[in-house]
Amino acid sequence: QLADPTVDLPTLLASPLLPPARSTLPLPRQLYGAARPNSEGRDPHIAAHRLALLAAVEARGRRGLDRPADASVADASAAMQALARFQPSWNATPLDHRCAVLQRAADRLEARLDDFCALLVHEGGKTIGDAVAEVREAIDFCRYYAEQAAHRLAPQELPGPTGERNTLRLQGRGVFVCISPWNFPLAIFAGQVVAALVAGNTVAAKPAEQTPAVAAAFVTLLQEAGLPEQALTLLPGPGESVGAALVAHPACGGVCFTGSTAVARAINRTLADRPGAIVPLIAETGGLNAMVVDSSALPEQVVDAVVQSAFRSAGQRCSALRLLCVHEEVADKLLAMLAGAMAELRLGDPREAATSWAVDVGPVIDAEAHAGLSAHVARLEAGARRIARTALPARLANTHIAPVAYELDGIEALREEVFGPVLHVVRWTGAVDALVDRINAMGYGLTLGVHSRIDGRAQRIAERARVGNVYVNRNMIGAVVGVQPFGGEGQSGTGPKAGGPHYLYRFCAEQTLTVNT
Ligand code: GLU
Repeated sequence: QLADPTVDLPTLLASPLLPPARSTLPLPRQLYGAARPNSEGRDPHIAAHRLALLAAVEARGRRGLDRPADASVADASAAMQALARFQPSWNATPLDHRCAVLQRAADRLEARLDDFCALLVHEGGKTIGDAVAEVREAIDFCRYYAEQAAHRLAPQELPGPTGERNTLRLQGRGVFVCISPWNFPLAIFAGQVVAALVAGNTVAAKPAEQTPAVAAAFVTLLQEAGLPEQALTLLPGPGESVGAALVAHPACGGVCFTGSTAVARAINRTLADRPGAIVPLIAETGGLNAMVVDSSALPEQVVDAVVQSAFRSAGQRCSALRLLCVHEEVADKLLAMLAGAMAELRLGDPREAATSWAVDVGPVIDAEAHAGLSAHVARLEAGARRIARTALPARLANTHIAPVAYELDGIEALREEVFGPVLHVVRWTGAVDALVDRINAMGYGLTLGVHSRIDGRAQRIAERARVGNVYVNRNMIGAVVGVQPFGGEGQSGTGPKAGGPHYLYRFCAEQTLTVNT
């Protein structure tokens, strides 16, 4: 009955016969590429499975979240010492053992996909489509890093003169501090942690203050998959106290951080001032991401890509589109079409199981984000031309920000990343190179969208742009592990790219061993 798409949903959800959530969503084993962007609504796996997902959301709503208590600064310090003591034994476990832990974690995550989705819906305010994509991304990270580690981190024999044997060995750097954001509280948390672990580090993981429950569930899952408890400690709490104590601790052998540019700078300062070893920082930060649309672009394709890129996940992705640059010749037509598409978006609360499935845009993460975005929108109302705003039901007024688009006089009016469903639009004419230079001059460098049917032009823009991920004639979010390694440059981060072939190396110390035989 569950798989029957004709069953009336509210009736079914009200039925006492509803079986407990089961994870039967068939997922391709080799996932890379399966978590296609913006395809969830049309994804046959999800469509066939939707009632079980909704049942899980409903069950989690009844059960509530198991939020771990905050750690103190003293807890953080004690954890760092214990992690440092255990690191040599974890580093000495065979590489294939560490890889197997990640593969088993991926298996378990697949088996528990429904409940992890429900956690993401309830704790992170994610839509079901976003939640499924995120669990799949976390599975991808586990499998991808396990496979990468197996062949990239194995010892290599290097050439040398007769009578000498040279070997290059990669091993953990020590205790890695992983600090992750609330907008991908499972995928980014998991990606950082498993990368650091598989490389032979022990890990102090500080999840975002808003989303510790998803992180705690993943830590438990890793332990069930065979990770020794001493290899990973979850330390929830404020960044200013717990995060700062972890980074400043003398045992910290590296930091992996995803969040704001300002916090990345603060971490860098702390690391620079600390006595002892010079430790690396892997930072993935914000973006002021632009999309360049020329007069040859396909209008329907552009509008679909803009709506997905700017408003999906309520704009709470660092890859999201913030600045749409439309060629003057096509601007009026395109913006009118965009207004039509924005009117169709449905705002809702994905935590309410009965309507969950139909939500395009969920809430923003918390009251602070809501206040900041509201103030930004108020400033734009006063000083810019509003193109369109999606209707906001009164009951969602305190939790949601309605998708909205404003036309600005120039790119320079936009300075800071605005982390929500607010789109800024400018018109351009003249040389596209000059436009790309102005986009580069903003100083961020994460994602760029290009819509043009002139192949040479798209290539030229991509070559000139100082960004990490360029997407041509499609949306610019939802990077797939192993397919579109993700991360930027400039104020957007240090690299290496998450989900890419060079990521694991940064978690390692390298040793060459030369033996005179
Ligand atoms: N990897 C995500 C994407 O491509 C964004 C990650 C983030 O927001 O930090 O949409």
